[in-house]
Amino acid sequence: MKLQNKVVLITGASRGIGEAVALAFAQAGAKLLLTARDAERLQQVAEQARTYQTEVETVVADLHDEAQIKKLIAHAPGKFGRLDILVNNAGLGYFSSVAEMTTAQWDEMFAINLRAVFLATREAIPYLRAADESFVVNVASLAGKNTFANGSGYTATKWGLRAFAQCLMLEERKHGMRVLTICPGSVATEFGGGNERMPRSPKPNIVQPEDVAEAILSALQIPQRAMVSEIDIRPTNP
Ligand code: NAP
Repeated sequence: MKLQNKVVLITGASRGIGEAVALAFAQAGAKLLLTARDAERLQQVAEQARTYQTEVETVVADLHDEAQIKKLIAHAPGKFGRLDILVNNAGLGYFSSVAEMTTAQWDEMFAINLRAVFLATREAIPYLRAADESFVVNVASLAGKNTFANGSGYTATKWGLRAFAQCLMLEERKHGMRVLTICPGSVATEFGGGNERMPRSPKPNIVQPEDVAEAILSALQIPQRAMVSEIDIRPTNP
């Protein structure tokens, strides 16, 4: 796929992996629709993306809300006339034992990491089918392939996301849609749960958000006849 002038919608674009993915697509000449709740940080990312001389729109939305997701998805074809790539990146994790996990924490992870992905993808499908070639990129995690104590809710959402993505791929590839799920290990971001942000890891060898973005863009650019459906990315020397 040639990324120049493709229309890309990225969730969770206000920081971290979503920000890096947005800037990588902007550099490749794609037109962007960026979304998150934090209007100020979203604007900052958009400003930086515009320095690559491409069109960038922002929509502030909370992915808990189905009505906001519907409006968000419709904004891309409304503004740019099409939608070629949906990047389901927004996500969060609370890490505690089953005994201590609250219902609110469990529900928030499932709402954003899984339900919002389903809703955004379902709403985007008519536009993605209309595109000559289209992509849905899901940011899952190596936690979607492994299990660990204190990870019950988060791992369940990411295992579920991988299953969702594989079913979607089997249903939609006949319409020219490719589905890529990327499974990063630890990445240097503020990733955490709710408003609890972690400081970016000072470890020098940790995978950077820009590395994840580069892996995604390289998988998208292979010929349409072939599909990279899953990527694992981890530190070489942790
Ligand atoms: P991050 O820096 O915390 O970014 C998370 C993004 O999700 C933010 O842009 C946030 O935007 C958005 N978001 C969260 N809740 C939202 C909501 N209710 N509505 C709309 N947007 C919401 O974390 P990150 O590391 O970049 O994480 C991105 C993805 O990578 C997640 O799916 C995560 O599970 C996955 N991942 C991360 C790691 C890691 O080690 N960092 C490893 C594997 C996978 P606002 O707060 O502005 O709304």
